[in-house]
Amino acid sequence: MHTARYIRIHGIVQGVGFRPFVYRLAREHGLAGWVLNGEDGVAIHAEGPNEALLVFAERLRSDAPPAAVIADIEVHEAAPDGFTDFTIRESKRRDRPTVRISPDLPVCAECLQELFDPADPRFRYPYINCTNCGPRYTVILALPYDRPNTTMQAWPMDAYCAGQYHDPANRRFHAQPVACPHCGPHYVWHHGSEIVRGDEAPVQKTVELLREGKIVAVKGLGGYHLACDAQSTAAVNALRERKYRKEKPFAVMVKDLDAARMIVELNADSEALLISVARPIVLAPAKLELPGVAPDNDELGVMLPYTPMHHLLFAAGAPEILVMTSANRSSEPIAYDEQDAFDRLAGVADAFLAGERPIARRVDDSVARVGAFGPVILRRSRGYAPGAVAALPTDRPILAVGADLKNTVTLVVDGQAFVSQHIGDLDHYQAFQAFEETIRDLVSMYDVSWNELLVVHDAHPQYLSNSYAVGLAAAGKIAVQHHRAHVASVLAERGEWDRRVLGVSFDGTGFGDDGSIWGGEFFAGSVRQGFERVAHLRRAALPGGDAAAQHPVQAAAGFLAQIAELPDVSAPPFNFPARYRNALQLVKKDVRSFATTSIGRLFDSAAALVGFTRPISFEGQAAMWLEALARKSSSSQSYPFPFTGGELDFRPLLLALAEDRTRGRQPNDMARAFQRGVAQGLCDAIIALCHQHNLDTGVLSGGVFQNELLLWDVRELIGAQPLQIWSNRAVPPNDGGISLGQAALAALAR
Ligand SMILES: [Zn+2]
Ligand SMILES: [Zn+2]
Repeated sequence: MHTARYIRIHGIVQGVGFRPFVYRLAREHGLAGWVLNGEDGVAIHAEGPNEALLVFAERLRSDAPPAAVIADIEVHEAAPDGFTDFTIRESKRRDRPTVRISPDLPVCAECLQELFDPADPRFRYPYINCTNCGPRYTVILALPYDRPNTTMQAWPMDAYCAGQYHDPANRRFHAQPVACPHCGPHYVWHHGSEIVRGDEAPVQKTVELLREGKIVAVKGLGGYHLACDAQSTAAVNALRERKYRKEKPFAVMVKDLDAARMIVELNADSEALLISVARPIVLAPAKLELPGVAPDNDELGVMLPYTPMHHLLFAAGAPEILVMTSANRSSEPIAYDEQDAFDRLAGVADAFLAGERPIARRVDDSVARVGAFGPVILRRSRGYAPGAVAALPTDRPILAVGADLKNTVTLVVDGQAFVSQHIGDLDHYQAFQAFEETIRDLVSMYDVSWNELLVVHDAHPQYLSNSYAVGLAAAGKIAVQHHRAHVASVLAERGEWDRRVLGVSFDGTGFGDDGSIWGGEFFAGSVRQGFERVAHLRRAALPGGDAAAQHPVQAAAGFLAQIAELPDVSAPPFNFPARYRNALQLVKKDVRSFATTSIGRLFDSAAALVGFTRPISFEGQAAMWLEALARKSSSSQSYPFPFTGGELDFRPLLLALAEDRTRGRQPNDMARAFQRGVAQGLCDAIIALCHQHNLDTGVLSGGVFQNELLLWDVRELIGAQPLQIWSNRAVPPNDGGISLGQAALAALAR
C-alpha cells in the first residue's frame, strides 16, 4: 500500500550529515518526498510502500550518523503528495540563527580507511574529512555554516572535491571543509631554518624528532599541542622546565583503545567516554608509572587520536605514548595561530609541525572522568563546545560571564544555553583577551544586540569579569552569588526550576553575602525561588585573604588558631615553616585576616598537617595530593566532623589529625580518615538539613567535588537514606560551571 509519513527529528541533527543520510536512506528504500533542516530539527516527508516506510523510520534511529544525537523522533501519518523523487530542500531562514553550531568531530572510520588506502586520492592527506567528521566550531567564522564563512575560504575546491560536495548521494555532500591534496591546505615543518611544505615529509620529520626525545609543537583542531615521548624521562623533564610547569599533570595520547587499556584501568563507562565523539582526555587509575608525567598522582589523563594527523603520526612510528599538552607556558591560553605559536613557544618546542588551515578560535582539549555519580566533565571544551547544555524557560537573551578562575561564558538565545569553551584564569592577560574575544564571537554569531542583553556576573567586587560586565552597554545587569550559581548549574542541566533542594557548595573561594570568603555552604530553595543559606562550615580566619590559597600552611594558621590543644606544629614531625608563625600573628592581631568558610582551605590545612608544607604550583594541588594518599589506604576510620547548630565544626577533625601525626601514624591512613570524616560530616549535615527543611534531594557542586574519593564516600554513606544526590554532568563542578548557573538564576529571577 502506498502511504506517507511526516517525520520530525530533534536533537543534534544539523551540521552532522543528517540530511544526506536521510536522502541516501530514502533512495535505498525507494521512497519519494523531501528532507529539510527545520527550525528545531530535521523534518521529513516520505512516501512509498508501507513496509518500506516502517523500515525507513526504524533505520533513521539505528543507522544515524555517528555525531548525531537524537533526542526524539515523531512520526505522523500524512497524505501522499504524489512525489516521484526524493530531494534535499533548502533550509528555512529565520530572523535569528538558532541553528546549533556543531562541536568539532573526530575523523570517522570511513575517512580513516581512505586515509590509509594508497588507491584513494586523499591517501595520507591530513585534512581529510566528510559530513560525519572533521572541524566545525574551530573553522566557523560566521553563520550560516557555509564554506565562504569558514577558514577554508582561501582554498577553492577542485572538480573532484566539488563533485562530491554537490552530490547528495556522496558522504561529502555539503561537507564545508572538504579538501584533497590537490586543492586543499597542507602541513609545514619548521625546524630552525629548515622549512618543508608537504604532508609526508613533515610527518616523517616529526616522528624522527619525537623518537630522539625532542619536543615538537603540533597543530591540532583548536590549537597547538606540545608533544614528546612520555616514556622518555629526559624529554618530559625538559618539557616541564621549558613550559614552567612544575608539577601539574600532563595528558597523554595513545594510538587506540587497546593501547589505552594497557596504561590505565578502564571500565565500560570510561571506555565509552574515551571513544565518544568528543574524544575528551579521560582521567583513570594509572597502570604504569611514567616518571614526571603526573607526579604524586595515581591517575593518568588519556585521550585517543582525533585528527587525521594524529593517526598519521602513530602510523609513521611515533612513540607509543605521547605527552600531548596544550601549547602554552604555564596557565596561559593555548596558542592557536602560527605567529603566536612561533613567538610564544620559541625555546619550548624544538620544532613545529604547523598546518595551513587557520584555526578560527582556540579550543582546548576537554577533560572528563567516570565518577561515583556517573560521567562528569571537568573541563568542557573541544568536542562539547559550543553545544547547548540546557533549555531555560526564557525568551530574553542573556550573557553570563562566569567566574575569574576556569572561566567559561554562557549565552542564552531563545532559551538555549550555549556554554563556551574553557577560557582559563582571567588574571592572565591573554586569557582575559580570549574572554573578551569569546563574548564578542558568541554575541555576533547568534546575532544578539547588546541593548537587549541581560548581563549576569559574579558578586565579587574584585573579579575582572565583574568589572568587564559592569562596563558593558547592556539592557540590564544582575549579580549572582558564586555558590548559589554552583548549585543552580546542576539544576539547570536537569531543567529543574521549581524543585526545592538542599544545595551544597564546597569550594575554594567565592564572595559571600556578608563580604567574607565562602566555600562551605548549605542552601535550601529552588532556582525560581532562590536559595537561602541555612548552614555552613564553622568560620575560620584567612590571613592574607585569597593569597593564602597559594600556601597551605598560611591557610592552616587561620584554622589551627582556634584549636587550643594543638601540638606545636613548628616542631617535628610537622616542621611548619616561618610563614606559618607570621600568618598566625596576622590572625591573632586580626590584621589582614578575613573570615572564611572555605572547605578548599580546610583541605589545605589538613594537607599541611599531613606534610604538604611547601607552596602549591597549581590550583587544588594540596587537596589532590591528599586525595591520592588517601586512596592508598585501606583504613575505614574517620575523624570526627560534627554538625551542630548549623555549623560543621572543623576543630575535632583537625585536632584528631594533628594528634595522629604526633603518634607517627601513616600519612595514607591519616589522609583517609580525614577524607572519610569530611564525607561523614557532610552526609550528617545533608540528612539533618533535608529533614529540617522537608527536602529529599541533595545537590553537590563546587570545585571540592572534583574529589572523587569524597563522592564515593558520600554515595556509600548516604546509600540507605531515602535521599537522592545530584551532581554536575554536562558542565564542570568547578568554576567552569558557574556561567550556566548564573544564567539560570538570572533567567528565573523575579
Ligand atoms: Zn569522515
Ligand atoms: Zn580537492
